[in-house]
Amino acid sequence: MARRKNKELLELAMDLGGEEAVEVIKALEKKKEATDEELAEETEIRVNTVRKILYALYDEGLAEFKRIRDKETGWYYYYWRLETKKLPEILRAKKMAELKKLKEMLEEETSEIYYWCSNEGHPKLTFDEAMEYEFQCPICGAMLMQYDNTQVVEELKKRIEELEIELGLREKPKKKRSRKKAS
Ligand SMILES: [Zn+2]
Repeated sequence: MARRKNKELLELAMDLGGEEAVEVIKALEKKKEATDEELAEETEIRVNTVRKILYALYDEGLAEFKRIRDKETGWYYYYWRLETKKLPEILRAKKMAELKKLKEMLEEETSEIYYWCSNEGHPKLTFDEAMEYEFQCPICGAMLMQYDNTQVVEELKKRIEELEIELGLREKPKKKRSRKKAS
């Protein structure tokens, strides 16, 4: 698998099930196909946890399994493998969701002026709310000042632009090129 794609897959695994999911994916990549027990042995993660991770991957469309019956014992074994065909689609959906969230955050930051005591974790209040508290922080009592969110807004805008370029929703800023007109 291409390195970049692999990195994105591991990041996705991290979101899905933390370090243990990353380990399971790495083991699956190595073994190509394996039962939950084999993966548990390989990763030294409890088999119940391995199973939970495998089903989470399956739900996301990142793993497939086939069921094989052991002729002697009559037991069924599930052989798991990675499925990365849907990875670009999944990543795109994830980025679209992130973009939506960032736009909402930007909307929230730009639609109101906030008042804040500048203590991390203390609430930022709208003008009306600040009025109610007579411009004193409801937690520490310090004076509420207009909150300068220029930097936050700039960062949000930058991240939105990057995401939109990644998603192909916005053209990459190009260097100006003069085009000769055919006459
Ligand atoms: Zn405060």
